[in-house]
Amino acid sequence: MDVAKVKEWLALFTTKINEEKAYLSELDSAIGDGDHGMNMARGTTEMMVALKEKNPETVVEVFKLAGMTLVSKVGGASGPLYGSAFISMAKAAMSSEELVTILNAGLAGIQKRGKAEVGEKTMVDMWAGVIGALENDQLTADVLVDISEQTKDKIATKGRASYLGERSIGHLDPGTVSSRYLFETMLEAGVN
Ligand code: ADP
Ligand code: MG
Ligand code: MG
Repeated sequence: MDVAKVKEWLALFTTKINEEKAYLSELDSAIGDGDHGMNMARGTTEMMVALKEKNPETVVEVFKLAGMTLVSKVGGASGPLYGSAFISMAKAAMSSEELVTILNAGLAGIQKRGKAEVGEKTMVDMWAGVIGALENDQLTADVLVDISEQTKDKIATKGRASYLGERSIGHLDPGTVSSRYLFETMLEAGVN
């Protein structure tokens, strides 16, 4: 895994999150508290500042710094969840260069922190879908859209959206959409 590509990935992700900040918060207004865009924009912007300041030179160090920044700068469920993902990815990158292995570790980090299983209408659904598609060599931007659309019909049973029960049906999960941007920009940057 190429460290320059990983840095490019995180920069593209930050830009995308900032472009879609209002939309992400609008999605969160429907089934949560309306702050997901703001949370992610703050966290990713701080992450870029930290990466520029410290300029880590290995994939392990880049993921570690990204994760620690997200955990510490985002108030809201998504910060510790994305943060755990990146910290777990850093650990996995110490002994593997393989994308699917590293993302699997990221998913495990999210699940260890948040205890959500696949199908509970959270970002776990996007991460698990991406890993499945990668294993079959079928990860494309269209597949990413399909995975997030599939969460629409699910009932949220974890996080704030779970307070709505059946009324969460028909809405996109904001964290699934921000994770879609994460993987879209991963493809754009050519990280493999
Ligand atoms: P908060 O809910 O604290 O306001 P955010 O709005 O930033 O935090 O993030 C909400 C997103 O976090 C949800 O859309 C969902 O994808 C994700 N999420 C919430 N709880 C969990 C969990 N237990 N496991 C995985 N993802 C979760
Ligand atoms: Mg929220
Ligand atoms: Mg909140």
